[in-house]
Amino acid sequence: MADFIPVNEPLLAGNERKYVNACIDTGWISSAGPFVGEFEERFAAATGRAHGVAVSNGTAALELAVAALDIGPGDEVILPAFTIISCALAVIRAGATPVLVDSDPDTWNMDPAQVAAKCTPRTKAIMVVHIYGLPVDMDPVLDVAAARGLKIIEDAAEAIGLSYKGRPCGSFGDISAFSFYANKHVTTGEGGMLTTDDSALAERCRSYRNLCFGPRRFVHERLGWNMRMSNIQAALGLAQLEGLDETVERKNRMGQRYFELLSGLDGVQHPLPRTDHAENVYWVYGLVLADDVPIDANEAIRRLADRGIGARPFFWPMHEQPVFRDMGLFPGESYPVAENLGRRGFYLPSGVALSTEQMDRVAEAVREILK
Ligand SMILES: *Cc1c(COP(=O)(O)O)cnc(C)c1O
Repeated sequence: MADFIPVNEPLLAGNERKYVNACIDTGWISSAGPFVGEFEERFAAATGRAHGVAVSNGTAALELAVAALDIGPGDEVILPAFTIISCALAVIRAGATPVLVDSDPDTWNMDPAQVAAKCTPRTKAIMVVHIYGLPVDMDPVLDVAAARGLKIIEDAAEAIGLSYKGRPCGSFGDISAFSFYANKHVTTGEGGMLTTDDSALAERCRSYRNLCFGPRRFVHERLGWNMRMSNIQAALGLAQLEGLDETVERKNRMGQRYFELLSGLDGVQHPLPRTDHAENVYWVYGLVLADDVPIDANEAIRRLADRGIGARPFFWPMHEQPVFRDMGLFPGESYPVAENLGRRGFYLPSGVALSTEQMDRVAEAVREILK
């Protein structure tokens, strides 16, 4: 069998080695090194934001965002049912209540038309999450937030380099969160960032990230976290950021190639190449099996693995998470689009390093397993 094609392989072909070596050569390996500030500044600028606060991962970024907005017990936060657990976890860990919204079946993003009906006097924020390469339709969500004085927390982990109506994703939140995990468009291996235009909010995040040290070191007036990013991670991030335009181009070509190779295939829904407000950046290339296809996503993934191809299931909806059921959350709630995506959706190898030959092999295997 030809080599296994992993679901993700990063591309580290720019200045990554040079900058990481500089950390080793200078001895600056902790978060106190100079790359951290430089990466924060450049990344914030790339999304049109005044401030960037680098953290240890994307989940940490969401937790800090919720804390920095003073969201806690008694508060509700609206978020999509179809997302990664990090989003709901950040709300729950703060003692607040997550309130779910179903997805649009075409874009797989939170359906903005369902947001207003979920607002109550306790609603404090809307957490928007751009999913798999297309943005949430932001304008109607921003309208609801403005009308009710709600904060926007934007999870742009999968949307680095993506735009909505020409404006970069990650510039819409009162505070916006990013991940630099190895499958994101800018990777530091593990890492994350918060961006905002609000300097007071940025300062709170910096303080929370670093144990809330007071002016007298080792004296603390609040409880913080250690969620710092190391200089070595920031070195990687800076080099990755230099390559972002090329990364986005590669992902776009990947999406177009998969779309062409798999066109005319019955029984699968493709990602939309574009909507009225955005071009797909194809963070991952997802497929959703039609109702009349006799296998589900798990079986499709097994069959692809037999052919040497790594595929992954879509997110599993928040209201069906065993951990949340055990906590008594979302009783009797149903989000049919999210439920279908969780059962019938999976994504193909989509890493930045993916070659055209690999895409050809993947597409051939997809055709075989659906015959
Ligand atoms: C990757 C991701 C996260 C979590 O980031 P980590 O760095 O893995 O903690 C959060 N939200 C979304 C939408 C993601 O894709």
